Amino acid sequence: MSNPHLNIAAAQRERVNQLPSVSIIVPAYDEEIVLPRFHERTRAVLQATGCPYEFIFVNDGSRDATLEVLHQLRRFDEHITIINLSRNFGKEAALTAGLDHACGDVVVIIDADLQDPPELIHDFLAGWREGYDVVYAVRTTREGESWFKQFTSKWFYRCIQRVSDTPIPVDTGDFRLMSRRAVQALAQLREQNRFMKGLFAWIGYPTKPVRYARDPRNAGVSKWNYWKLWNFALDGITSFSTAPLRISAYLGLFTALFAFLYAIVVIYKTLMFGDPVQGYPSLMVVTLFLGGVQLVFIGILGEYLGRIYNETKRRPLYLLDGVAPSELRLHLADSPEHIAPPDLSQPRRPHP
Ligand code: UDP
Ligand code: MG
Repeated sequence: MSNPHLNIAAAQRERVNQLPSVSIIVPAYDEEIVLPRFHERTRAVLQATGCPYEFIFVNDGSRDATLEVLHQLRRFDEHITIINLSRNFGKEAALTAGLDHACGDVVVIIDADLQDPPELIHDFLAGWREGYDVVYAVRTTREGESWFKQFTSKWFYRCIQRVSDTPIPVDTGDFRLMSRRAVQALAQLREQNRFMKGLFAWIGYPTKPVRYARDPRNAGVSKWNYWKLWNFALDGITSFSTAPLRISAYLGLFTALFAFLYAIVVIYKTLMFGDPVQGYPSLMVVTLFLGGVQLVFIGILGEYLGRIYNETKRRPLYLLDGVAPSELRLHLADSPEHIAPPDLSQPRRPHP
């Protein structure tokens, strides 16, 4: 078996003084207010790294002026590519669209609302130079989020950690850096139920956490209400674990065993003491309990079945309404070597 640390050491030797080209992917849904601020702050960080870079903004069917704001920014910054989706497909699909279009040596995923401090990109790049393929941000605190949200989020991550077949790091969002080969690996996973945190974990490769304090949203409101979060949690658990199905089997077994023992008691009592007409309440309790348990687990079966149904339709993960490539990309496209369709395995370098 190969020693992963040897691979890291080899990668480190190769990367130690490199300036990788950076693609930064920003999903944006109704973020008109914060985008200019985000762009300014993140651009300063990227320029400070000295790396060639490109912004890939994915407009996920925003209802406000996000797209216009992006076009305005693009007029003055030749590093900006805009991907416009045909409607709101959700953050996971928007990220996938961005990843499919990224051409840097490394890709950074970041939220538009400045909750993920762009300054952390320096630490990400340092991790990449140490030889890691994935450097992800772990939040130590979350400011500006309600007690209830922090509590449920904490427990969700601990819960999924236990039941998931792939270990998913706790307190981790999408904010991370990925190497080209990690992006390529992710591009092969085309499932419909995209629980990105799980997909990120599934691909493996040398991975390093970086700790940070999560800032409150800079402007605008969170797009996640509790109903969305609940569905997100269901998606997460059903995509990465079959534990609920197993639990239902064990619980079924357990109740059946209990019923069997109870039957013996009833038969014994009837034989010994005759059969006075009694026991209506206990009968009701048992009937309702079993009925409830059965309904719950039929529901769980349904959840999995529904997901299988969705997967079998094999619909595309997102549809494009248009792409406005950055000026840099247009130049790249002009040169004959780039007229061929993009080959995902070969990083294309935008100019600094
Ligand atoms: N987002 C998106 N599509 C959606 C919902 C959100 O692209 O349907 C983007 C949003 O613009 C932001 C990021 O995903 O850049 C995180 O969203 P949000 O801040 O609402 O989530 P939270 O930080 O509250 O978890
Ligand atoms: Mg946010």
